[in-house]
Amino acid sequence: MSAKKNGQRRGRHAKGVLPEYGSRTDVGLVRDHNEDSLCVAPPVFAVADGMGGHAAGEVASEIAIQTLIENAPQTADGDGLARAVVEANRAVIRAAVDGRGKQGMGTTMTASILDGRSLVVAQVGDSRAYLLHRGTLQRITRDHSLVADMVEAGELTEEQARVHPQRSVITRALGSDPNTLPDIYEMTLEGGDRLLLCSDGLSSMIEDDVIQSVLSRRSDPQLCANVLVNEAIKAGGFDNVTAVVVDVKGDEEAQVKKARFRSRTGAVIGALALIAVLAATAFGSYAYLNHVAFLTVDANNEIVINRGLPGEFLGFETYALDHKTGVKTTDLDLPQNTIDRLTENGGMRVDSVADADALVDTWKSQATDQKKQDDASEGKAGDK
Ligand code: CA
Repeated sequence: MSAKKNGQRRGRHAKGVLPEYGSRTDVGLVRDHNEDSLCVAPPVFAVADGMGGHAAGEVASEIAIQTLIENAPQTADGDGLARAVVEANRAVIRAAVDGRGKQGMGTTMTASILDGRSLVVAQVGDSRAYLLHRGTLQRITRDHSLVADMVEAGELTEEQARVHPQRSVITRALGSDPNTLPDIYEMTLEGGDRLLLCSDGLSSMIEDDVIQSVLSRRSDPQLCANVLVNEAIKAGGFDNVTAVVVDVKGDEEAQVKKARFRSRTGAVIGALALIAVLAATAFGSYAYLNHVAFLTVDANNEIVINRGLPGEFLGFETYALDHKTGVKTTDLDLPQNTIDRLTENGGMRVDSVADADALVDTWKSQATDQKKQDDASEGKAGDK
């Protein structure tokens, strides 16, 4: 599956110690089209930044992502992932020849497979993979760009590279040379690590220390993706912006999460197991229930924030209404999967009331941005 064009996807994998993730892509404030595409199909996550103009860039990035999904292995197999990227390259070249795209179109590809704690990343171009490890941001990938070569040669500093007029010239892309190969990075991660994949519309607009701060402070991966994209837009939004955030779960944490998301049909045995797992944590169950929160929608479509977990335990509700937000889902521009998560299975769970409020704020600003873009394109259409 892929998601793109002002969309967001979030979710968690069904089996075992597998990641929670969130993603968002946005056209930004300057461009007419969103040429970025992304993939969140656990264990495969990827970002592709297309180029070629006149809508060809988005054709290139979509074909590359689709081909990647069809060919990527389901384990952290570096050779297998490299073969899938080579296949994506061939598919983009074919599409330019057979008329689905245009000659000269191309795309970057930063593709990853996170299988438990084993990570493999394939890299072509200047989209990036970052790792937040114990609070510190590390860049995993090396850009294939003119300015990256100049930085390595000592001709430019990172700061000069960020504003260099030729900063978007890339030295390797999918779609031109059939012999192009990706760089492959393989590593073992720790529980609690967080992976970020992004297009240069994010990494060129905001500095690494801002990225580190957002990834460290926000507990929810979807909220992180939203905030990062909003920061890039606030900084100017000169390019399409895409962020995919994936969390690596520890064993213990995975157990708690599993218990947290147990359906209410789990009855008392389930609830006892939940309390046992919660009690085993440092917080204690009361503190835990008092801290976590979830968002639901009331009969008037208004988003409300509840403290606790949806459901009941021994006849007592395990939550209480914290506050109503005054925001209706009909006032927002939410993707269907977000609306489904608000309305199904007891609501959308987050780590705190503050996270819930921040999420609603993000949705409000997204709706405002979208309205501005719609008004602007209506204005343009009116001028013709
Ligand atoms: Ca870009």
